[in-house]
Amino acid sequence: MTNKELADLLLPGVSSDIEYYEKKYPERNLDKNAIVTRFAPSPTGFVHMGSLLTAFIERKAAKDSNGIFYLRIEDTDQKRKVENGIEGIIDDLKNFEIEIDEGAISETEEVGQYGPYVQSKRKEIYQTYVKYLIEQGLAYPCFCSHEEIEQTRQIQEKRKQRIGYYGRFAKCRRLTMDEIAQKVKNGEPYIIRFKSPGSFDNKIKIHDLIRGDIEFPENDIDDVIMKSDGLPTYHFAHVIDDHLMHTTHVIRGDEWVSSLPKHIQMFKLMGFEPPKYAHISPIMKEEDGKKRKLSKRKDPEAAVSFYHEKGIPVEAVKLYLMTLANTNFEQWYDCNKDKTIDDFKFDFKKVSASGGLFDVTKLYNISKNYISYLKAEDVYNMALTWACEYDKQFAQVLENNKEFAINLFNIEREQKKPRKDYSCFSDIKNQIWYMFDEFYKDVDNYEFQLINDKEEINKILKLYMDKYYSNSDDKDAWFNKIKELSGELGYAKEVKEYKNNPDMYKGHVGDVSTVLRVALTSKSTTPDLYEIMKLLGKDKIFDRYNKFMKN
Ligand code: GLU
Repeated sequence: MTNKELADLLLPGVSSDIEYYEKKYPERNLDKNAIVTRFAPSPTGFVHMGSLLTAFIERKAAKDSNGIFYLRIEDTDQKRKVENGIEGIIDDLKNFEIEIDEGAISETEEVGQYGPYVQSKRKEIYQTYVKYLIEQGLAYPCFCSHEEIEQTRQIQEKRKQRIGYYGRFAKCRRLTMDEIAQKVKNGEPYIIRFKSPGSFDNKIKIHDLIRGDIEFPENDIDDVIMKSDGLPTYHFAHVIDDHLMHTTHVIRGDEWVSSLPKHIQMFKLMGFEPPKYAHISPIMKEEDGKKRKLSKRKDPEAAVSFYHEKGIPVEAVKLYLMTLANTNFEQWYDCNKDKTIDDFKFDFKKVSASGGLFDVTKLYNISKNYISYLKAEDVYNMALTWACEYDKQFAQVLENNKEFAINLFNIEREQKKPRKDYSCFSDIKNQIWYMFDEFYKDVDNYEFQLINDKEEINKILKLYMDKYYSNSDDKDAWFNKIKELSGELGYAKEVKEYKNNPDMYKGHVGDVSTVLRVALTSKSTTPDLYEIMKLLGKDKIFDRYNKFMKN
């Protein structure tokens, strides 16, 4: 039996005309340095922050170089597939505005000339290349059962030998054509392995864009390329897809570093030019002074849904991802506050080889800073969008009081140093609820400070309403009145005065305005009191003070 006959026996009805696909997917017409890269997740559910970072880096590298970023769904392991897995990935990319140029856009649709972009739909393509390899004498069927493979593994382990199907352990590589024919005739199930031309004693160097040159022993394992269900393994699909889709850069998790010798070997065996590789280390987290991987199980922030639920603006998450992606970004951004991520050039050399350290506090600070520079109307719209999904009652209140809420968000905003109070949209209600009667009506805990005697408080409030309140005062006039009020009741009009002669006064103007603030909002810290009073207006102020006095 010739190799060609063997190929026909193993894959009847399958073409081995690889030229058909080589022509069907021609070189891409792009600039010389354009990066073509892909996000290639398996639809196993739950996109992890680490994969989002990888996708973000891929998108950024492609965009910076006028290249292509595409989404390929790697679903050859049908057992691990979860329902709506593809939709979940697409939604997560959309939610974080990581746009794809090509690839799956829904469970059934895709865009781009290099598809199908879902591996389970590419079975025919892989089989064509498998058949071609068998015809060339570069691949063979393996009839070893799981039990036999397991037995070999145990022997290797016991003898402290390398694990795998290589050298004299590669039993089926030595089968004669007749033996193969007989086994096929008997209906014995088989998989296909490629014939590794490597020798473990040879050392090779492979360049990684993040890690630099890495030395490996050459691969000598005859790895599986086609499984018994006719689908390829990850390794083979990677080689075929990244070749046919003209990927220039494979950017992926570092769990694949150890497979590099095998992948490079397979590319060469096929006669394809290998892509460049960049392996991203997992995101780390510091706990009790020790570093560990950010964990799905232990860290809520590892799930990308966390950011959505908290209401952290997408742009802020992206800024944070950029700080994780390139160690020099933060400094650049500090000096270029008016610029955006698009103005920053991603650099593989500035990716941490040991893994970016995840710091939630830093993320919240970035988010707080970002929100503080938004326009009040944008804060309103984003907060409303968040609330519609996560806090219906708050959404209703925002909707019913649109102008009021925008004016409220506008306090101490759009100025050189805006007020930084919200780290995320889920923070907002906690900080401003007292401005809305809907939330204020049941208040019973007041944060009074120095002046906390009910009678004294009532006296201040009454005098303020009777003599000093005016709705037409500007801020200076308003504050002067509070000083007058303070003086009248025996408090120092200036803090300095009080500090110089503390025995002469009951307190100072600041203590009095705290009373006015707390009796109005129940809180001892709020945005600017003058602005708050202006917004609430006379009726509400008097109503709240009168109610307080009566209680
Ligand atoms: N499907 C592989 C994974 O999820 C992709 C690795 C790659 O990007 O090539 O790990």
